[in-house]
Amino acid sequence: MQQVVHDPDHMRALVHEARAAGQRVGFVPTMGALHAGHASLVARASRECDVVVVSIFVNPTQFGPQEDFTRYPRTLAADTALLAAHGVRWIYAPEASSVYPPGDATRIVVGGPAVRFEGEQRPGHFDGVATVVCKLFLAVPADVAYFGAKDWQQSLVVKRMVRDLGLPIGIVVCPTMREPDGLAMSSRNAYLSVADRPRAVALSESLHRAAELWSAGADTATIERTMRETLSSHGVVIDYAALADPESLDPLPKNATRAIALVAGRLGSTRLIDNMELPTRGSPERGAET
Ligand code: AMP
Repeated sequence: MQQVVHDPDHMRALVHEARAAGQRVGFVPTMGALHAGHASLVARASRECDVVVVSIFVNPTQFGPQEDFTRYPRTLAADTALLAAHGVRWIYAPEASSVYPPGDATRIVVGGPAVRFEGEQRPGHFDGVATVVCKLFLAVPADVAYFGAKDWQQSLVVKRMVRDLGLPIGIVVCPTMREPDGLAMSSRNAYLSVADRPRAVALSESLHRAAELWSAGADTATIERTMRETLSSHGVVIDYAALADPESLDPLPKNATRAIALVAGRLGSTRLIDNMELPTRGSPERGAET
């Protein structure tokens, strides 16, 4: 017995009622056009919680003026069917006017892990993400919310906002689900032309190359150059290809033991992002004492 809820007050009352009855509530925020990546978050939430809420809302404030807000895929009927098959009790699908009432003038502004990479490429994007996630957490006051490592920087931004504002919700980050050739699943993969689809493997390939070189002890500049070469050789127009600290996204200090590789680029009019946490490597051996 699945229910689609549009009204935030109604949604909040349902979640409060469930929690008052002792049920653990899990929440998966999405923009719809659901695929197996989203389904993996729902499956994890179902394992760990008594009730699962999935929101479907294409959030206008996280899209730039030249971005794909209007053409973003909207597949509510298929999404509802997928979520029914996963036993999701409530789908929260608010109207834009209830999330952003007329005259709306309030935003959450995020810094720290929001500044580099997607923050540079998409000015204002993470302020839009943080604002909508906060509003969704108010409408769905769950015990725990599930996010994908696919959007690693987004997960850091959400965790930082939750900590900084003291929001009473746990955050779980789940592994990236991939197509058989390694392409990270994404609602935007549907935009890829038949010719560009095989080229899109360049993103995960560049990350695997980074992991190999990192494990072999290569330096950051060499690894980043190889990532760029891999992307370019498949015709990807690069936005960034870099290593960073996996928690702060700051540039890597010398002798870093932990790193994440992040890539973003375009094939035709399709923009793709991906990332991979690299295996922890031991501190480099010290040179012979003289
Ligand atoms: P979106 O609908 O693209 O906003 O994504 C909703 C949630 O699903 C976010 O937390 C994403 O990180 C997560 N997600 C998207 N793609 C994947 C994937 N391939 N594997 C795991 N999680 C994903």
